[in-house]
Amino acid sequence: MREEKLDQIEKNIRMNLALVNQRITEAADKAGRDLDEIKLIAVTKLMSVEVINGAIEAGIRRFGENYAEQAAEKIDILGKTADIEWHMIGQIQSRKAETVSRYFDMVHSLDRMKIARYLDKYAKEQNRVTPVLIEVNVSGEASKYGWDASDESLWPNLADQFREICAHQNIEVKGLMTMPPLFDDPEDSRPIYKKLRHLQQFLIKEVSESKWDELSIGTSFDYPIAVEEGATMVRIGTEIFGSRPTI
Ligand SMILES: *Cc1c(COP(=O)(O)O)cnc(C)c1O
Repeated sequence: MREEKLDQIEKNIRMNLALVNQRITEAADKAGRDLDEIKLIAVTKLMSVEVINGAIEAGIRRFGENYAEQAAEKIDILGKTADIEWHMIGQIQSRKAETVSRYFDMVHSLDRMKIARYLDKYAKEQNRVTPVLIEVNVSGEASKYGWDASDESLWPNLADQFREICAHQNIEVKGLMTMPPLFDDPEDSRPIYKKLRHLQQFLIKEVSESKWDELSIGTSFDYPIAVEEGATMVRIGTEIFGSRPTI
């Protein structure tokens, strides 16, 4: 029974994953992009260890989680192995920063200076350098996390702050992450991602301490658009695992 259930989980994931990979390939082709510039992060927030095991069986190696404590529990059960990457994509509370630093290979959701300092401090204690993405809010919607980058007049000040983040020795800024507001039409994400690209170009010129070459954009809702607009990482949950259990 249990074996059967696991087989079924894995089978479903394989099926969904094939479709996701196909759509990523089509979008990359359309934009003339190289497929190996684009990494899939499978988002497993609220998903069980069984589901994650199914995903590993199905060949997935990069996982995104939103809640530090829950992720840590799952990672402890699964065992932290070198071939699996854990990506923190959810908002980080100060008191969870140490857990994030210990369990995650990369942080996409660095959304305030205080967290940069914490991540740097804890990485230093472990004698490592944590790769991070800076989360920005390009749409200007009040409910979104991250540095407000909605108006270009704010960008020079952002550059100053991001330079300060880059100065930390034990975190390495790789690029940008953003989460668009909830739209009805995935096409509505496109202008947001174009604006993020502009900001990326600006930062490449102004803040040479980072290459800014990673863009973490796109969810189940809009990842083909994100790939067309330059995503190097797409964060996909529902399209691979189905809808999440409600809490
Ligand atoms: C949950 C989540 C995702 C994945 O969303 P899906 O719609 O399930 O693909 C991506 N990014 C962030 C920041 C999330 O919180």
